[in-house]
Amino acid sequence: MPIDPKLPYDPANIFARILRGELPCARVYEDDHALAFNDIRPQAPVHVLVIPKGEYVSWDDFTAKASDAEIAGFMRAVGAVTRQLELDGPGYRLMVNMGGAGHQEVPHLHVHIFGGRQFFQMIAD
Ligand code: 5GP
Repeated sequence: MPIDPKLPYDPANIFARILRGELPCARVYEDDHALAFNDIRPQAPVHVLVIPKGEYVSWDDFTAKASDAEIAGFMRAVGAVTRQLELDGPGYRLMVNMGGAGHQEVPHLHVHIFGGRQFFQMIAD
């Protein structure tokens, strides 16, 4: 079920619990601004999620409320993850689902990084 992006941040959401160390994850990268880990149901040979450490429901929430330092730090972290995974040569795809129409399922902002194969069609459904 997609989330309602207008609801307040839910500190019990699954990514908040991963950030607090209450649930495990296959960690790929971490710095002051972001945590990256493998998606539990990968849709590509490489499928990593990057989440900000702050409590932001969605891309909309983050871009409206996060500080410039948080936004810069998060964007740099996404780039660092792609380079760490050596995707910067072959290329990769980024995706952010936002709210109902975007079919966002977890109410903590996450950027999907897809790589390890050639992508063609932009949107499959
Ligand atoms: P969304 O549809 O919200 O953009 O994507 C949510 C993503 O989170 C999905 O790709 C899903 O497989 C992933 N996911 C959901 N629960 C967990 C979890 O507990 N651990 C990990 N690593 N990924 C999860």
